[in-house]
Amino acid sequence: MNSKNQKITTFKNEISLFIKREDLLHPYVSGNKFRKLKYNLIEAKNQGKTTLLTFGGAFSNHIIAVAAAGKENGFKTIGIIRGEELKDQVDDNPTLAKAQEFGMIFDFISREEYRIKNNPDFIEKLTEKFGDFYFIPEGGTNDMAVKGCQEILTEKDDDFDFICCAVGTGGTISGLINSSKDCQKVLGFPALKGDFLQEDIRKFANKDNWELITDYHFGGYAKIDEKLIHFINDFYIKYNIPLDPIYTSKMTFGVIDLIEKEYFPPKSKILLIHTGGLQGVNGMNAVLRKKNITQINIDV
Ligand SMILES: *Cc1c(COP(=O)(O)O)cnc(C)c1O
Repeated sequence: MNSKNQKITTFKNEISLFIKREDLLHPYVSGNKFRKLKYNLIEAKNQGKTTLLTFGGAFSNHIIAVAAAGKENGFKTIGIIRGEELKDQVDDNPTLAKAQEFGMIFDFISREEYRIKNNPDFIEKLTEKFGDFYFIPEGGTNDMAVKGCQEILTEKDDDFDFICCAVGTGGTISGLINSSKDCQKVLGFPALKGDFLQEDIRKFANKDNWELITDYHFGGYAKIDEKLIHFINDFYIKYNIPLDPIYTSKMTFGVIDLIEKEYFPPKSKILLIHTGGLQGVNGMNAVLRKKNITQINIDV
């Protein structure tokens, strides 16, 4: 399954910008989460598992993707959710409400427990509680996820000079690196602060033609400001392309800022990967409304 590249515009110095609309792959299993789940679902079936279990936060694209993909493929799904207080807020949380509609069963845990979630004792406890399951890590990144993300780029993309994507756990960029050409450069824009990513990416990526640009996280994961909201709204009016507030807007903002700062050589052809995440807009708007901040004005 391939998604289309859409031309955004040509900037000064004949720099042309395109975007690969992975967000249009599926209404709920959006963009890279679709790629990351593909081989995990096949593996779960091969292992004869009937239940998928994973972890996530309140507005997680990964949680809703697992819930939707699980339903479509005949798996039961269990979501271990960060934050006990969310237990009573499922109906007010568009992401969790939708995941529940897809049949996902939740277990809400404290932030302390969430921190130790990968330790074997904790997983053991979950097995006692829920029985046998196929485990998908938080954010969905493992070998099979990277394999799926290697299918984002095709030979039609060979003539781009730069491939740009947002980075969370690093699975998506690793797949892009592995299927990129040596003469292409892959730029990752982390949506969160922290230095751990380089190492994680090196574990999965088999080439060095990449770099992380760490100046565009806007204060950290899920943090946004009015400048970013205006950017999303203006971008939608100008190009009719919706961007999500957590990942793709920060990456796109960064790339356009770098074009203006003449980071890219003249005549560069740049491909942005739209990794999806648009389901998170309603949840973010609910938060913005409470704080009395400008809303994100895009149709999703
Ligand atoms: C999860 C996600 C990412 C981050 O992907 P990683 O493979 O974890 O780096 C980027 N964009 C969107 C929209 C996502 O949902």
